[in-house]
Amino acid sequence: MRRTIRAAATCVAAALLAALIPVGAAAADPAENLEPRIDLRVLVVDDGGPAIDAVTAALDGAGTPYTTVDLSDGERPTVDADFLADTVDGRPRAKYQGVVLPHDNPFGAGSPETAALAAYEAAFGIRQVNAYTYASPAVGLNRPQDPGYAGPLDGITAHVTDAGKAGPFGYLDGEVPFEDNDPGIDESYGYLATPLADPPDGAAFTSYVDAPVPGSTARGSLVGEYAHDGRRELVVTFVYNRYQRQFRLLARGIVAWLTQGVHLGADRNHFAVHVDDVLAADDRWNTELNCTPGDVDCGTAGEGLEPDTIRMTPADAEYAAQWSADRDFTLDLAFNGGGSVTHRAENGGADPLADRLLADRDAHRWINHTYDHPFLGCVQNVTAVPWRCETDERGDTVWTDRSAITAQIRDNLAWAAANGLTVDPAELVTGEHSGLAVLPQQPRDNPELGPALTDTGVTWLASDASREPGQRTAGPARTVPRHPMNVFYNAGRAAEQVDEYNWLYTRASDGGSGICEGSSTTTCLDAPLDPETGYESYIVPLEADIALRHVLANDPRPHFVHQSNLAEDRIAYPVLNRILDGYADLFAGNTPLVNLPMKDIGEELRRRAAWKAALDAGDVTAHRTGDTVTVTAPDGMHVPLTLPEGATRRTDGTDRAFGGPYAGLRSGWALPAGDGQAAVFRLDGAPGEQPDTPDDPGTPDDPDTPGDPQDPRCLPEFLRLLDLLGLLEKLCGAITPDTARSPAPDGKTAPDKETAPDKETAPDKEAAPGGKPAGEPPVPAGVADPVPYGPGDTTVR
Ligand SMILES: [Zn+2]
Repeated sequence: MRRTIRAAATCVAAALLAALIPVGAAAADPAENLEPRIDLRVLVVDDGGPAIDAVTAALDGAGTPYTTVDLSDGERPTVDADFLADTVDGRPRAKYQGVVLPHDNPFGAGSPETAALAAYEAAFGIRQVNAYTYASPAVGLNRPQDPGYAGPLDGITAHVTDAGKAGPFGYLDGEVPFEDNDPGIDESYGYLATPLADPPDGAAFTSYVDAPVPGSTARGSLVGEYAHDGRRELVVTFVYNRYQRQFRLLARGIVAWLTQGVHLGADRNHFAVHVDDVLAADDRWNTELNCTPGDVDCGTAGEGLEPDTIRMTPADAEYAAQWSADRDFTLDLAFNGGGSVTHRAENGGADPLADRLLADRDAHRWINHTYDHPFLGCVQNVTAVPWRCETDERGDTVWTDRSAITAQIRDNLAWAAANGLTVDPAELVTGEHSGLAVLPQQPRDNPELGPALTDTGVTWLASDASREPGQRTAGPARTVPRHPMNVFYNAGRAAEQVDEYNWLYTRASDGGSGICEGSSTTTCLDAPLDPETGYESYIVPLEADIALRHVLANDPRPHFVHQSNLAEDRIAYPVLNRILDGYADLFAGNTPLVNLPMKDIGEELRRRAAWKAALDAGDVTAHRTGDTVTVTAPDGMHVPLTLPEGATRRTDGTDRAFGGPYAGLRSGWALPAGDGQAAVFRLDGAPGEQPDTPDDPGTPDDPDTPGDPQDPRCLPEFLRLLDLLGLLEKLCGAITPDTARSPAPDGKTAPDKETAPDKETAPDKEAAPGGKPAGEPPVPAGVADPVPYGPGDTTVR
């Protein structure tokens, strides 16, 4: 085998010489003797449209760096050879690993910028995404007619083709459903067209996602790859915005295709559900009074009523454990040990719920929710509605003090220890997220909170993502923002949930509170929901859609509900099942939901923020040279990275698998070695196709193979030779790219029809007149306002 390698190497060297000699003048340039370095950064040409916005949102979300050329900016740089490439340390450098254009020809046919891009892409093997382009021969497609289609695509189900499954979209199960949230509004628009039957010499179009052409037996492409003139373009023929599910489903594959599976940043589908107030009891919404007796929102209206709280039963606990096992999904139970102590005191020492939950302790993760759930902010004066902060004689706010907070944290941990529960003391969810600022009453954090967290070793503190979407510090801790679900803490029965929902989201003339009428953040329902069916028919689908949106947006923040929602009608499960079923319908088995514990979510958010700051500060360099990826970042900086299967990290001369498998690639966080040393990764064995090297002549089962990962001394040189040969072939083959592409006969290469909806979520009940989607995203009932989860989401007193 060694002899074979040597012979091959000799052969390559000869070929190399042969390839170099005719180049003549280029051979005298030392840069031509080195394979190029390709910087891990994307170039985005921005036309201000929704498709480019969507692509950049996906890049931002994953932490993938990009440079924007704003077409509307008169001072923008000219895209030419110097803008795209240069030479670093004598080595040619491609400054961008991929190019995203708003459509196939933003600079105009025959323009110098178009030619420069084409030459650059061909020379360095750089790919180009046309984010939303008209179907025409310029992109390898017939015009969208006979057969073909141009028009709204709302509600269609597109499919990943076999080529798409084998290529960039193998992480999908196959269906790509297009949203149709409002039958009265066109939310999507696009072109279904067939590939050219007789493409130019050497050109080929491969459809990755297609859909049936209406009125025809043909299928038309929506996403496909057009290979021509030594370049590859991803041709997307429908428009979308950053929120639409059809885009979020495809975004991961578009970026992976663009970067050939090698990029900074990582994107996973996260989902976690916290269940608060476990072992405590929750107050119940009163459908007559339209408030929650026992809570602070009833004033005197609820006085004299018998308490009617909601608390799980042992059967509910058993159901929860079985459900988790059946769905292979772990719930995080935020518990109040004092709730059980109180229950035992009032029931002759018995608490069968606690007994059942403790017997099933390993079925769940457990989070400290304080011993008995007091409000840990200012001392509340609840004699008025809404409540206010107590003040002392000097007018200063009176705060819950450090020792009281500390006791609430420690007592619950002690209860857990005494009952054999494993709890991470670094994680804490306070009742109602109290202690943190809450507007309007308490505009600042309780100053006693930070010291109490220090006393107790809390480093991850839950916050309300509807009030504070981002992570921040609170004393020694960082917050973990949680998404409230519109499944109310004070509803054990579906009818109660609907009654309260109607109260919050219908007009006074419809029997509601009318709060929605004056709200700038939510709309009113057209009519009250049916108490019998409204939960299943309206609230469940809407809440599941919202949660899936988070999941598909690489958003790790957990959702939260309450133990009351696992009791009585068990109204949490229809929503959770719909989310999990919906997810399973969309994704292949290699792309599971990622269900992280609270502290890991907090750490994920922390790393992302640090990574973004480092990118913004220009503190990161990363490039690929052949099969080697080199990343430098500040010491201690975790680097998110996505690489092809088989990629390894080289440390001290040894290669180890990098990250974890996800969606057909490997991804994860890497920590550079420190002292300014770069982290180095190898792509050997990766299925990427750049450069076009011959197969490795070594075979892995030969112990003498120099290519053994444990013996990296020889092979890299050999591979570099091969890479160089491939590069030369590329360069030689790309000297005269055909840039004289004919413009579309109708004079436009991209549609000017801007029908992409701008709204974030669907049921736009208040659409602007005239059929044009409103510019600002109206939000459906119940989405944006803080969800009632308190005050007083407990009766542990
Ligand atoms: Zn709570």
